[in-house]
Amino acid sequence: MSDRGTLPVLAHAPYQVADERPGLSGLRPAELAVWVASSGEAAYRARQVGDFLWRRHAADASEMRTVPGALRAALEETFRVDTLVETSVRPADRGLTEKALHQLVDGRLIESVLMRYPGRPGRRERATVCISSQAGCAVGCPFCATGELGFERDLDAAEIVDQVRFWARRLAAAGRHVTNVVFMGMGEPLLNLDAVVAAAGALVDPSRFGLGARHVTISTSGVIPGIERLTALHPPWTLAVSLHAARPALRDVLVPLNRRYPVGAVVESASAYAAATGRRVSYEYVMIDALNDTSADAAAVAGLLRGRQAHVNLIPMNPVAHTPWRPSRPQRIAAFAAELHAAGIPVTVRRSRGDEIGAACGQLAAERAEAPAPAAVRLRRERLERAGAAALAVGRG
Ligand code: SAH
Ligand code: SF4
Repeated sequence: MSDRGTLPVLAHAPYQVADERPGLSGLRPAELAVWVASSGEAAYRARQVGDFLWRRHAADASEMRTVPGALRAALEETFRVDTLVETSVRPADRGLTEKALHQLVDGRLIESVLMRYPGRPGRRERATVCISSQAGCAVGCPFCATGELGFERDLDAAEIVDQVRFWARRLAAAGRHVTNVVFMGMGEPLLNLDAVVAAAGALVDPSRFGLGARHVTISTSGVIPGIERLTALHPPWTLAVSLHAARPALRDVLVPLNRRYPVGAVVESASAYAAATGRRVSYEYVMIDALNDTSADAAAVAGLLRGRQAHVNLIPMNPVAHTPWRPSRPQRIAAFAAELHAAGIPVTVRRSRGDEIGAACGQLAAERAEAPAPAAVRLRRERLERAGAAALAVGRG
């Protein structure tokens, strides 16, 4: 009954995998409708399958009880209803944060995190899911565990969306739902833009996941062509830029992509996004002790962002193996925030959530990867220490 010849071509087919069935949640409603029709079923069956997928977060065709057995079998034969093969979850933060390690069909590991923010008077409860867009990352920021892993592969739209469906299924069991999604897990979303746009589109589509359109944030280390392509789409999503340093020599070390896309041009391009969408840009700033947290750094950030539609989030660095660096002290973070505030830059200090389970991106997967030899770790630390010191010398010179 199923006909693989009528399968819609997905933008990002899986790579070298034993199971070549595409993920069902990567299909647009029109594509699902075409497939259902080609299977000889009535049109309303497509909506029924869509409901199980998007409203009940089905992980298996057998859960689609009102769908006829023959159609369920055809679905299983043609698609993967869930692209996440196996998941393990670790709780932290008195159960308010949970971190999942998902195994994909080719055995690769990716991570997603759920952060719950209980409601209080005047503010409804929020449940934010942080998702991965790639397995590994090519950008190689030295304070980031994903950067340490290197690039493995892009995720396809279904693999991205299925991370959100995983948490939605889990929350639904407790009568809760996902309210916000942030692309701040593993990978650089703007280097996998087609799949990310398809996934974010599915998340905010009222006929699919149906998330509030303004409740999606896409974070980038500063891929200018990606920011420009996104701007042209005029999406309702918030753009977050991982700044981490305003001074070019230091940012070259902390975000190596700065050599290709310099920070000044990144901020210009992000400002064009803000102007086109009316959405303020979030600038993420991981605070590293005595490296990027000085008053001179705060002044440089203020100089870069003054007069722009911008908001700065300060995040104490999660300690990561293989780096010589430590998180900034709380008093220094508070002083840095006060300096930005005095310069008229809106700023928030974020508590890093769930660091006891390694909730900074890539840490769980890095734990599972083979540990590098101690000599390699020592050399890397020494190299970073030299690079950091050299960058500071430029700043002071
Ligand atoms: N690649 C994109 C999105 C994923 S990284 C980007 O860099 O923007 C998401 C966020 O996790 C980034 O802001 C990054 O700075 C932060 N992050 C990575 N390693 C961290 C660490 N050790 N401590 C705190 N935040 C970290
Ligand atoms: Fe990649 Fe973002 Fe980690 Fe940098 S911080 S290595 S861009 S995932």
